[in-house]
Amino acid sequence: MKIVNPWIEVEEIDGLKIMKKIERACRTCYRSEGSISEDSYKNLLKNCINRGHESVLEHEKVTIRMYCDIGVYKDLTRHRFASFSIESTRYCSYDKDKYGNEIKCINPSYIEDKEIYAEWKKSMEDMEKHYMKMKELGASTDMCRLALPHSTAAEVTMTADIREWKHILELRTSNKAHPAIRQLLIPLLKYFQQEMPEIFLSVDYDKEFNEKNYAEFRIAK
Ligand SMILES: Cc1cc2nc3c(=O)[nH]c(=O)nc-3n(C[C@H](O)[C@H](O)[C@H](O)COP(=O)(O)OP(=O)(O)OC[C@H]3O[C@@H](n4cnc5c(N)ncnc54)[C@H](O)[C@@H]3O)c2cc1C
Repeated sequence: MKIVNPWIEVEEIDGLKIMKKIERACRTCYRSEGSISEDSYKNLLKNCINRGHESVLEHEKVTIRMYCDIGVYKDLTRHRFASFSIESTRYCSYDKDKYGNEIKCINPSYIEDKEIYAEWKKSMEDMEKHYMKMKELGASTDMCRLALPHSTAAEVTMTADIREWKHILELRTSNKAHPAIRQLLIPLLKYFQQEMPEIFLSVDYDKEFNEKNYAEFRIAK
């Protein structure tokens, strides 16, 4: 059993271009294309968001990849307007060389109590023994996956439009969301806030969440 750290990778985006494309689409409503100027998108987007005229945000989408645990994707796949491709525990057989003959578990670094953390680690080690033993006994990967816990690491590719990202980030970066999701999505929100402030600056997040637990954040070139 190997303990691994989560990461999140976002495709390189040009926030200004995204916001201007949304402005262009939105101005169809008022046939006010002639009012487009260098920074006319700023007021337009703010007004749309304030008035709840958010369907215009659906014209642009962003894809991310992340290395997270099963609990994270179990929660995120509840969002119906996002698309997912997820490492399959039915097809990936962790006893194989390709996977290092081991099960990888996402480090719950936010568990600060040493005794609790040690107990979690022991349960992951036990789980791996049972998974491998089931394989030895001839169980299919379909059967073995029944032994996998929420902590099992998996790669996920996720795509959503800007409206859905705003909604997901509002729900999943607050202190009500699971810490394993907060550690991945707060860094993403901060990137979006930097790239598309007119859309994402109003999204509040858990500022008390310890930054040392943030997942590694990468921009794919
Ligand atoms: C802190 C927290 C705790 C949670 N706890 C639980 C739990 O204990 N058990 C559990 O089962 N789930 C739980 N959930 C999941 C939650 O109930 C939602 O299923 C999940 O967050 C997806 O949100 P959504 O429906 O707003 O989003 P999306 O599917 O992303 O939809 C976006 C928006 O579209 C609209 N929409 C989508 N579908 C419909 C529809 N059919 N009818 C009308 N409007 C629609 C809604 O306005 C919705 O907000 C929890 C979520 C959070 C954030």
